[in-house]
Amino acid sequence: MEDTLNLLGHAARQVIGCLAALAQQEVAHVIEQIGLTLFDAPSLKAALDIDWADAGQKQQALQRLCDELDALQDWIGAHFPHERQSPPLAAALRTLQALRAQDLEPDPAGGSRIRQGVAKDRQISIHDPEMRHGRKSSATRFDGYKRHIAHDLDEGVILAAEVLPANTPDTAGLEPLLIAVELQQRQVTALHIDRGYLGDDLIPAYEAYGAAIRCRPWPAPHPAGQFSKREFHLDLAAAQATCPAGQVTPITLGKTASFPAEACQACALRAQCTSRKTGGRTLSIHLQEDLWQRLQMLSTTPEGRAALRERVGVEHGLAYVSQRQGNEARYGGVRKNTYHLRLVCAIQNLERAQALTAQAANDAEPFERLAA
Ligand code: SF4
Repeated sequence: MEDTLNLLGHAARQVIGCLAALAQQEVAHVIEQIGLTLFDAPSLKAALDIDWADAGQKQQALQRLCDELDALQDWIGAHFPHERQSPPLAAALRTLQALRAQDLEPDPAGGSRIRQGVAKDRQISIHDPEMRHGRKSSATRFDGYKRHIAHDLDEGVILAAEVLPANTPDTAGLEPLLIAVELQQRQVTALHIDRGYLGDDLIPAYEAYGAAIRCRPWPAPHPAGQFSKREFHLDLAAAQATCPAGQVTPITLGKTASFPAEACQACALRAQCTSRKTGGRTLSIHLQEDLWQRLQMLSTTPEGRAALRERVGVEHGLAYVSQRQGNEARYGGVRKNTYHLRLVCAIQNLERAQALTAQAANDAEPFERLAA
């Protein structure tokens, strides 16, 4: 992963490399012809050579880089007007322009500045244009890719594996896994999934088809000491919610319901229910509220909790994969990293098959002795 300036520097060097190949000249000669000064050093930051803690110097360095990138693009327009429309120059130019657009923005004081915040789907590497920023939680960020696996809890083998850029929602990983499982003519009787997969449209479809969904429900946070959502009775058929004081309000899937302000103002339970200064208590109703309700009930019974614990097998499978593969992407791009993950999973399955064969032989041994 590279910072903005190095990213732009690498992208510009790729463009210059294409120009050198087109003109059949040395890179240094092309740089000299265009009049550039930043791209013949091994590192852009070394060429800029400023005190990076000084905001003024940093801004001037950025402006110098932007001026040279403009000069580069103008020169291409004048000398290679046709070649810039076709690969490989077109692709290198597209990358450079995309990086400028994603990482820079107009400075109200004039010129350009580094974009405030992170652009959506930000490219973070020139060498691997497919890797992305991802998040494990709001506080923990990681860069690269996410692994997705389908693990058979009965046989302990991995049935499918996918790699996707880190910023791809988990739900995008579910469909390819399930397609791969279906292609193996296996019947899915239960899906023990991580919460990230719950929002996929396939979940209700598989549930309707008879598969049990086992997952911890989406959280419904509430302030300590106040009524949680569980303490409200939700009647989805009648599209209404009843609060602990018996007040009824209409509900709509995917929307936030509000109890009447007048009733809540006069309610004796108000202190236990809401801290809002004005208005009534609100309740978020999930788009898949009926699923949420059923998942909530799971953790309230010993059988449900035991069913939820079965997912530990998937975690163990992932831990073995992680141990064998490591947690750094070995290759660039989704395709090669998917290939590597599947290779690791295949080896893991072979080990599992060997263990099952040895176990079957052990189990058979006493009977063979008896027969003898
Ligand atoms: S504050 Fe409103 S929602 Fe809460 S218990 Fe009282 S009437 Fe019901």
